[in-house]
Amino acid sequence: MAKKQSAGHWINNQFVPGRSGDVIDVHNPATEEVLGSVPAGSEHDAGAAVAAAKAAFDGWRRTSANERADMLHEVAHKIRHHWESIVELLTLEQGKPVSENEEELEWVKTTFDYYAEMGRNLRGRVLPSAETSQLNMVIKEPYGVVACIIPWNYPLLLMGWKVAPALAAGNVIVIKPSEMTPLTTLYLAEHCWDHLPPGVVNVVTGYGNVGEALVTHPDVPVIAFTGSLATGQRISMQAAPFIKRLHLELGGKDAFIVGPDVDVQVSARAVAYSALLNCGQICTSTERVYVADGLVKPFTEALVEEVRALRIGPGIEPTTDIGPMIGEKYRAKFETHIEDARKRGANVLIGGRRPPNFDRGYFYEPTVLTNVDHEMLVMSEETFGPAIPLMPYKTFDEAIAFANGSQYGLGAVLRTNDPLLA
Ligand code: NAD
Repeated sequence: MAKKQSAGHWINNQFVPGRSGDVIDVHNPATEEVLGSVPAGSEHDAGAAVAAAKAAFDGWRRTSANERADMLHEVAHKIRHHWESIVELLTLEQGKPVSENEEELEWVKTTFDYYAEMGRNLRGRVLPSAETSQLNMVIKEPYGVVACIIPWNYPLLLMGWKVAPALAAGNVIVIKPSEMTPLTTLYLAEHCWDHLPPGVVNVVTGYGNVGEALVTHPDVPVIAFTGSLATGQRISMQAAPFIKRLHLELGGKDAFIVGPDVDVQVSARAVAYSALLNCGQICTSTERVYVADGLVKPFTEALVEEVRALRIGPGIEPTTDIGPMIGEKYRAKFETHIEDARKRGANVLIGGRRPPNFDRGYFYEPTVLTNVDHEMLVMSEETFGPAIPLMPYKTFDEAIAFANGSQYGLGAVLRTNDPLLA
C-alpha cells in the first residue's frame, strides 16, 4: 500500500522528520485503510524532544500562574474551534462511534479549563513553628520534563489528564502517543497548542522503544503512563535505578454484581453499556458479571435481547452502536479468550464470531457467555473486547469474594436498590 507523507514529530512547535526515515502506517480499524503515517521514532528523536523541553523549562516555570491559566484556556478554546475535524479524525483513527468521541473530546476540553483554574489557585503554605524566630514554608515547585506515555483507547482524554495538570503546575512535556492512534495528538499539537512557547509540549511518535528511551532518559524525572499491566511492570523496573516518580494507570478485570432486588431490564441495559462501550476496550469495562441466583434466567434473556439490538458498523456512521476493535493483534488475543472458554465448556448465547457482513475491519460480535468458571481466560485475564461472561452467585458474600478474587484491582460495579446490602 502506498505510504502517505509523514507529518513528523512535533518538537519546538514544528514538525521534524524522524532520524531513521522509518514510518508507521496508521490504519482506520473499520476499513483497514491507511489514514496517514508518522515517524517510527528512535532514541535520538526522543532525546531531541527531551532537550527541547528541558530548554523551555526555565522560561515556562517562570511564567505566572495566571499566564499559564490563560494559555490552557486557549487550548480548550481551540479544541472547540476545531471540534468537527478532531472528532472525525479521532473516529477514523480509533474506531468508536462519533457520539463516544464527542464525549471524549468534551472531557478533554473541560480538563484543560479545569486545570487552568486549578493552576491559577495553586498555593504554597506557611506553617506555624514550635520554635520562635522560625517560619516553615511549603513551596510547590515543578519537576521539569514529564514524559506522558499514552494508550490507544482514549488517546486524547488520557493525554489531557496528564498534560493539563503538569503544564498548569509549570512542568514541560514530551508525549509518546500510541503507535495505533498518533494522528489526533499531532493534530492537536499543530492546531490547539501552537500558541504555547516552543518546547513546552512536544510529541514523539513511535513504538515502545521511544517510550523506553523516555523512561530511561536522565533528564526526565517523571513518567506518567497509562497502558497495560505488562508495560507498566517493565517501566517500573526500568525506572527503578533512577528513582523516578511514576504515575501508572494499568489494566483491569472489573466485576459487575447484579443484586437480587434489581429491575432486570434496566440492569441488563446497564451491563451491556458498561461492558460494550468502546467495544469493551476500557480499563474499567465490565469484564465479569455475577448475577443473583434467582435472577439468572430473566436477566440473561434481557441481556441477550439488549445485545441483539446493537448495531455494529464503522464509528463514522451515525447509526453505529459498536465499532471495530483497534487492530488485528488485539482481536486475535480476544479470540483466544473466547476459544479457551468454549473449549472449557462455556455456552455462547449470542455472538462468538466475526460478523459475516464485513470483509474488512477488525469487527467482532458482542458475545454473551454462560457456564463459565474462574479458570477460563475470559474470567481471569484482561480480555479487552466485547465479551460478557455471566456467572451466578448464591449469597452476597460469595459475590464479593468472586469480585475480589482477581489480581487486578481497578474498578467494580454493584447494582442494588438496598443501600444496606454493601
Ligand atoms: P500498552 O501498554 O501496549 O501501550 C501503552 C503505551 O506504552 C503505548 O504508547 C506504547 O507504545 C508504550 N510502550 C510500549 N512498550 C513500552 C515500554 N517498554 N516502555 C515505555 N513505553 C512503552 O497498552 P495499550 O495496548 O496501548 O492500551 C491498552 C491497555 O491500557 C489496557 O491494558 C488498558 O486496561 C490500559 N488502560 C488503563 C487505563 C487506566 O486508567 N487504568 C486507561 C486506559 C487504558
